[in-house]
Amino acid sequence: MGDYEQVVKDLRASYATGKTRSLQWRVAQLKAIIKLFEENESAIFEALFKDLHKNKAEAAIMETMLCVNDAVNAINNLNDWTKPEKVAKGAIYMMDNAYIMKEPLGVTLIIGAWNYPVQLTILPLIGAIAAGNCAVLKPSEMAEETARFLEEVVPKYLDNDCVRVINGGVKETTALLQVRFDHIFYTGNSVVGKIVMEAAAKYLTPVILELGGKSPVYVDKGTDLEIVARRLSWGKFCNAGQTCIAPDYVMCPKDIQEGLVEKVKSAIEEFYTKDPKSSDSYGRIINERHFQRLQRLKKGATAAYEGEDDEKERYIAPTVIPNVKLSDPIMQDEIFGPLMPIVPVTDHKEAIEIINGREKPLSLYVFTNNKSIGQEFRDRTSSGALLINDTVVHAGLTTLPFGGVGNSGIGSYHGKHSFNAFSHDKPVMEKSLALDQVNSMRYPPYTEKKLGW
Ligand code: NAD
Repeated sequence: MGDYEQVVKDLRASYATGKTRSLQWRVAQLKAIIKLFEENESAIFEALFKDLHKNKAEAAIMETMLCVNDAVNAINNLNDWTKPEKVAKGAIYMMDNAYIMKEPLGVTLIIGAWNYPVQLTILPLIGAIAAGNCAVLKPSEMAEETARFLEEVVPKYLDNDCVRVINGGVKETTALLQVRFDHIFYTGNSVVGKIVMEAAAKYLTPVILELGGKSPVYVDKGTDLEIVARRLSWGKFCNAGQTCIAPDYVMCPKDIQEGLVEKVKSAIEEFYTKDPKSSDSYGRIINERHFQRLQRLKKGATAAYEGEDDEKERYIAPTVIPNVKLSDPIMQDEIFGPLMPIVPVTDHKEAIEIINGREKPLSLYVFTNNKSIGQEFRDRTSSGALLINDTVVHAGLTTLPFGGVGNSGIGSYHGKHSFNAFSHDKPVMEKSLALDQVNSMRYPPYTEKKLGW
């Protein structure tokens, strides 16, 4: 812990010089992030392939391009974002200048998760830098190759006085959390989210928690099941189901279940062939522990579509399980793997009841042609985000905040929302020392005469 304390002390000293407040510094660092991606693209793809068998195209769309676009967006808008925001004033404050200033928070700790190990550390870092902070990055130890890559490459591109990478597992993160930071940004599961929040409470450190949970899907009658199945299967099976906003379970009226299963099977074969194991577009499970956890979930379930898994390769075939009951083991915790349970329901009203009886999800997906059904989900449920007629893609639109609610998280980021996430809204009022007589009413003694009563 001594070492970590020293790291944070050093970053604090850099922060105190004010260098991170200058827009030139911020832009230079953001440009350095872009350069890092440009000059190391193949090394990043290689690390992601080793960690997760992630296909280059998927890695580009869901990791590197998101980061580069976010950095470009921050550079282009930084002037605007950092401008003081004038506020409305009543007559009493007519002579005063009142505005909101975006103030950096100081030294932030960014703890990343393994499933999108590049974007889950770099996107928050872009926000932290854009807002003028120093940062410690703690990549997930589970995505070993990517963590090693970040530790090696980040210091070559970014200002080491202000940004550091610390690698390690539970022991190291526990020690880091004992050090006082000005802000903590954590991505991962809700159990550890509570540990982070508890550690932060000791110093009243503000936190952003990007957590997970079971993101439900409702498929309505009358929708084009072929399109539904493609969008659903892509969201579910990309990264082998290890996506925080992956559609976790599907609800649909019983009479369309069979048709949906058939279309999902076709989509799987179209995307990954009849032998997904040999497809370079299909991922692997991160480690043996998660492989075994998913095996336990599969046990006893009657799949309508599955394949032969391979423990040595940590390969789990895309699996579709119809007629699932809410009490089944697969419906208890976030699946985080390529298993798609389908829960038959009477109608959308039952689906809404089921959603409302559980923790608030990170995302909710509704497929329907009926606008009023979509609106009913919107107005009668609570979730980090609602996406109608697709899955996952809302996360790519950075003008929308990305984050959870309740058990799925606290706070949000992406685009300008990342800048806000790492800023304090400081209210500033500037007054003149002249005309003090107008203040006479507020100065004691409070006589009736003065008040005109
Ligand atoms: P993980 O195991 O990589 O853990 C996340 C981080 O927490 C790591 O850096 C790890 O070192 C640290 N950590 C683990 N145990 C700890 C402990 N006891 N004390 C302190 N630190 C500890 O990732 P995970 O939790 O398996 O990630 C999967 C979960 O994250 C899923 O629930 C998923 O939905 C969620 N997730 C959410 C988002 C989002 O943006 N909301 C994104 C990705 C993943």
